[in-house]
Amino acid sequence: MGEGRKDYRGDFLAEVEARVEEGEWVKMCMQCGVCSGSCPLGPDWEHPPHEIFQWIRANRRAEVLGSPSVWMCTSCHACVVRCPRGVPVAHVMHGLAHYAARLGLAPPGQPTRRLAERFWENMTRTGRVNEPRLALSLLFANGPGEGLRTALRMKDAGLDLVRAGRLSPLAALAGDGVEDPAGLRAVLEKARAIELAKTAALED
Ligand code: SF4
Ligand code: SF4
Repeated sequence: MGEGRKDYRGDFLAEVEARVEEGEWVKMCMQCGVCSGSCPLGPDWEHPPHEIFQWIRANRRAEVLGSPSVWMCTSCHACVVRCPRGVPVAHVMHGLAHYAARLGLAPPGQPTRRLAERFWENMTRTGRVNEPRLALSLLFANGPGEGLRTALRMKDAGLDLVRAGRLSPLAALAGDGVEDPAGLRAVLEKARAIELAKTAALED
């Protein structure tokens, strides 16, 4: 491999290709910016997807893995269907976020990350998401004072949801689950084993 090519394909790109889910797609990006321009959250990204891809190529490992931006993707897939190179942008972003979390490099307290973690905890308890309980856990994530202030600020929206039958406070106490909880536990155990194997491979 010539020296120029070696510089262009820096160590971090090689790492992403080897260890990040769908990371092998990063080299296909031609920096057209269509993904970032299509993203409904575009103005809220500190570093939009095309910039993250460029940073990977520029070997900016700490900035990419520590960036809140890789946690911004909501999987709407607008970018995925529009990318002229067929890059699965959403999957790469989730892969980077997951990789950063596994290495302990993800930014602590990032709201999307917190939502993802609490959603997972909530959903895996019974196999169905208990929305009121999830909302309460997020509301009070920063302590009772901030939770109460936010609840008061958003009370009209909450009451509208209750009136429309979209939110039942009683469901926070009860809620339902899947018909086969043992089957669910088996699936989760299998997923956990796969996850542990991936983590072990990272430590090789
Ligand atoms: S749309 Fe595709 S090719 Fe264009 S910048 Fe985004 S990932 Fe790269
Ligand atoms: S899939 Fe993610 S990165 Fe792509 S447009 Fe939607 S939110 Fe933005």
